[in-house]
Amino acid sequence: MDIVHIGKAKTVYRTENRDEYLMEFRDDVTAFNGKRKTTVPDKGRYNAQISARLFELLEQHGVATHYKALAGDGRMLVKAVEIIPLEIIARNIAAGSVVRKYPFKEGQRLIPPVLVIDFKSDAYGDPMLNDDLIRALRLATEEELATVRELTLRVNAILKDYLNKRGLLLPDFKLEFGKARDGKILVADEISCDTCRLWLKESGQSVDKDVFRYERGDLITAYEEAAKRILH
Ligand code: UDP
Repeated sequence: MDIVHIGKAKTVYRTENRDEYLMEFRDDVTAFNGKRKTTVPDKGRYNAQISARLFELLEQHGVATHYKALAGDGRMLVKAVEIIPLEIIARNIAAGSVVRKYPFKEGQRLIPPVLVIDFKSDAYGDPMLNDDLIRALRLATEEELATVRELTLRVNAILKDYLNKRGLLLPDFKLEFGKARDGKILVADEISCDTCRLWLKESGQSVDKDVFRYERGDLITAYEEAAKRILH
């Protein structure tokens, strides 16, 4: 099959239908812009299942996504989109880079949520953007930018509520958006343990990629725990 894109943890293939791609969630895990990497069996399958469930949830709430169906272990059929090269990060609790770079305390509640937009570019190390830079680099129009901001806040509210009922806190997560052939903006990429921080409400324990980033134990045990709560 023709490859559309090979990312750090996913490969996207063309299908015989020009409006549809097949996304393969691989077992590769990377952190710190690819400086640390390993392979963890079953990781791709968990991330595909979690993403599928969360995309379905968004669709049920009227948020359009690229998700079509799961297609076997770690594989997902999606609508073909052109990815807008922005990483929209919503933060509800301070953790990770925001604690390293600004005087926030780890675990501090951020009310209202804080949105940060990074440039999706491995070559430039995903630097933070502002509206002027987005305009000057022609990464998105004013209208697209307003749309992705509003959608991210809606997605945040939906996910936070769903996860909270399953004993999970959502400190932050990253979304990507794509433009479908008809011009419509869809939530794309994935929503998984690789792209969300998820903390067990009872203990504060991480069940996400921080387990790998900060060597906090066994990654697959953590992803399994997250999947158990999110899928059932
Ligand atoms: N994130 C992501 N891809 C990236 C950068 C961040 O999925 O390239 C997610 C990350 O998993 C976390 C949130 O976005 O849930 C915020 O990440 P942060 O800026 O704190 O960076 P990190 O601590 O991961 O370096």
